[in-house]
Amino acid sequence: MSKQDSKNSKDRKGAVEVLTDINEDFSAWYVDVVRQAKLADYTSLKGCMVIRPYGFALWENMRARLDGRIKETGHVNAYFPLFIPESLLQKEADHVEGFAPEVAWVTHGGNKELEERVCVRPTSEAVIGSIYSKWIQSYRDLPLLINQWANVVRWEKVTRLFLRTTEFLWQEGHTCHRTEQEALNESLKMLEVYERFYEEDLAIPVLKGLKSESEKFAGARSTFCVEALMRDGKALQAGTTHDLGQHFAKVFDIKFLDEDETEKYVWQTSWGVSTRSVGALVMTHGDARGLRLPPKVAPTQIVVVPILFDKTRDETLHYCAYVLECLDDYRVEFDDSDKTPGWKFAEAELRGVPLRLEVGPRDMKNDQVTMVRRDTGEKRPVLVEDLDRIVEETLEDIQRELYDQALAFREERTRRVKTLDELAAGLDELRGLYHAPWCGSEECEAAVKERTKATIRCLPFDQPEEKGACLACGENAKWDAVFARAY
Ligand SMILES: [Zn+2]
Repeated sequence: MSKQDSKNSKDRKGAVEVLTDINEDFSAWYVDVVRQAKLADYTSLKGCMVIRPYGFALWENMRARLDGRIKETGHVNAYFPLFIPESLLQKEADHVEGFAPEVAWVTHGGNKELEERVCVRPTSEAVIGSIYSKWIQSYRDLPLLINQWANVVRWEKVTRLFLRTTEFLWQEGHTCHRTEQEALNESLKMLEVYERFYEEDLAIPVLKGLKSESEKFAGARSTFCVEALMRDGKALQAGTTHDLGQHFAKVFDIKFLDEDETEKYVWQTSWGVSTRSVGALVMTHGDARGLRLPPKVAPTQIVVVPILFDKTRDETLHYCAYVLECLDDYRVEFDDSDKTPGWKFAEAELRGVPLRLEVGPRDMKNDQVTMVRRDTGEKRPVLVEDLDRIVEETLEDIQRELYDQALAFREERTRRVKTLDELAAGLDELRGLYHAPWCGSEECEAAVKERTKATIRCLPFDQPEEKGACLACGENAKWDAVFARAY
């Protein structure tokens, strides 16, 4: 028996660097988890992060799920250029104004100054619009349903790993339709795709609704959103879909000859979800020990840890090989490194691996393994002959449990207030989502932000009939709005 193994329970705490207490400093805890779990790290260029292999494997699983959903709804993928000539971007005034403060410009090609500045895409409406105008001639070319997976650049002043970085990864869908109604339906359909991706794949409950005028996408007619609540009570915009109307179509001259032989402008949408969703996963499910990943997207679903003693070492490894054979259908890691079991347990917990199977002499004797759930910490013996079935059921249960916990948390943190005073007092006491009546004016929205730092996260689709009086001005309310402090 090795010295290291004999003290496996004692060194558990020292096995990974100590995380900041999640209840004391949530932001510091977040950065600790992201870095120690090796999801991502800073680089020498401020605002640019490196996504490490474990973080990228997670993103790849998420991307595969969302990509499948996007394709199931009739979209295809393509790739458009990273660079956009300034003249193209300038064509749409609101769009330029909205993005100008964050655009990165290329002024030189090699040593030669460019005749026209070129921007690095902050989003691709302009470049894609200019290309679509060449592709679309007839109503037979519609609808055009294209998505791209790409990187974009927005020069952010304040940055946070995954949540706000100068360069980030995302998908952006860009579609063209024959009628106004079709485009509206598309933007709502994709919002539902996002909702299902978040709720079913990431186990994150989201609130669906409309953005207020001041929060909508630059150049859009309406922006719809899914919003999630993080464990520190702050909201996170998880995804948006935009009904663009004919705004960009008119600017970029995207016209088609309709069946009635008249020329018409197309109706457009765009929609996106980014690597922010990785941050949302960390901040929705994480706990004092680190990540808790939903089984559907976890890079490793099961870690198998042999408890090795010199006398039974070969026998245990042999037994483990048999156990691993039963787990063919899952993403499994076998940790036979020379770290102590305690170290391995702590590391697997930090990395959020949903299930851990411990295999020691006693397990071997009883034809079993010891199964430990990351979400609840529950530990139980499982016969190897039942392993495949029990693992499948348990992974499904973990997926459901994470969602239920997140939903319960959101419900606890959702309140209804009538006045600005109540909102301010409420937010001081407990951060969360606050429903309040709002008249629809930008002045009142600004007054709320000024006083409480809370913004309108969304105007939920489910609106009460009686909305009462605006929380700020007391006039008749047009909306039941959801206010929160946000990332
Ligand atoms: Zn008002």
